[in-house]
Amino acid sequence: MLALVSITAGCAPHGAPASRSPGEATRDDVQQDATSSSEEGDAAAGAATGTRALDRSPTTRAPDHDRRREIESYARTMLRDLAAARGIEPNDDWKVDFIDRAGIRAFVDRELTKQFTAEELRIFGRVESAFGVIPFGVDPRELLLDLYESSVLGLYDPDQKTLFVGSFVNRRLLDLVLGHELGHGVQDMHVDLSEFLGTIRIGPQRGASDEETARTCLVEGDAHATYLSWLAGAPGPAGVGDDELRLMREQILSIDERSTEFPILARMQQLPYAAGTATVLQLAREQGWDAVNALYADLPDTSEQMLHVDKLVSREQPAEITVDRDALTRAYEGLTLEWIDSRGEATWLATFAGPDSLDDATAATEGWNGDLFVSLSRGDHAPPVLVGVTVWDTELDAKEFQEQLTRYPSPPAATRVTLGSKRRGREVFFVFTDPADLEGHLANADDIFRVKRRGKRRAK
Ligand SMILES: [Zn+2]
Repeated sequence: MLALVSITAGCAPHGAPASRSPGEATRDDVQQDATSSSEEGDAAAGAATGTRALDRSPTTRAPDHDRRREIESYARTMLRDLAAARGIEPNDDWKVDFIDRAGIRAFVDRELTKQFTAEELRIFGRVESAFGVIPFGVDPRELLLDLYESSVLGLYDPDQKTLFVGSFVNRRLLDLVLGHELGHGVQDMHVDLSEFLGTIRIGPQRGASDEETARTCLVEGDAHATYLSWLAGAPGPAGVGDDELRLMREQILSIDERSTEFPILARMQQLPYAAGTATVLQLAREQGWDAVNALYADLPDTSEQMLHVDKLVSREQPAEITVDRDALTRAYEGLTLEWIDSRGEATWLATFAGPDSLDDATAATEGWNGDLFVSLSRGDHAPPVLVGVTVWDTELDAKEFQEQLTRYPSPPAATRVTLGSKRRGREVFFVFTDPADLEGHLANADDIFRVKRRGKRRAK
């Protein structure tokens, strides 16, 4: 997905801020915050997904010069505290500005152009439609622009050294937006964030989506962990409650069709915040912030590592999976290879999750040990055929995953895509294809992948 250091609605953590936003501390406010946090969470989740009509008109509360200056001065104090808590030398070489929905859309549009070729975006749309994540035939660029425009509350632009706050952000969300984005500001003072974001997208080197997700988990989780540990005050990372982290994860994984047209996509987009924040905080508690800083020089390999701190520390390695191109050509004659990629534990988890299946989804995706799929075009008129393999730590893990596949959200009948799977020991093969071709396409799936399990630890 797009590499963008932003905060989106739906990520709002529970709990009252340690300090008040500029000039707004009243007893009533505090009480209202304390009693309406779940309501705010719901509202934020709603905003994340576009159930609210987007206000494309100029903002009614025009952000004036004084308000910007007031917020900037508050933010400077806050950043010095955040940096001190992280042991990083702060500087004042940055500013705060407002951005409206149209501005966010334009910003994301520029980033999409920088990070993806038109062909990559086109194939992204085709592949996700075959997985049933988005409808077939919609313009993926417009869909992503709509998603980000409706969900982004603030963003940090490392090129302009500017922290942008959504001009529509209300005061109860202001601390969250400032805190998270200042977390990126602190990052930018010890990692070259502009350069790092440029490396998140691995780009033309294919099969790397899961590695990209891992990097997004790091950059978003670090920013949010910095903010939450500042909120916790003196205890730092140790003071952030596990309940709060669990709630954040549940809130994101529970996003469903009541609040968005594309719940899987919204969960995929937001899971890195929850997964990354929890893992970064656990690492900081166990080994200190230096261990977190060191991750930028020795990046995580998989979203599995960013979902489980023990697997991050041990650098648990996924199986090495390759595609036998000759076997592929023989087995799927008449279809054209257009893409090879990985999903990763985080994407499978986001796919299966939802308010009623959270625990099942978690159980079914733990024990992940690698996956790879090919996207085979049968022409522009239909979604591509997807053929993939998933590799699991144990046979039980493989069985649990395959069982969950039977509950995969069914695509609209009009797309004529059906899902089939088969298991061979610790490997589960899957195919998304035309119902008429399912049997044949599934039969050939295990001929085309070469799976090599590796030692659990990566040699340093
Ligand atoms: Zn962010």
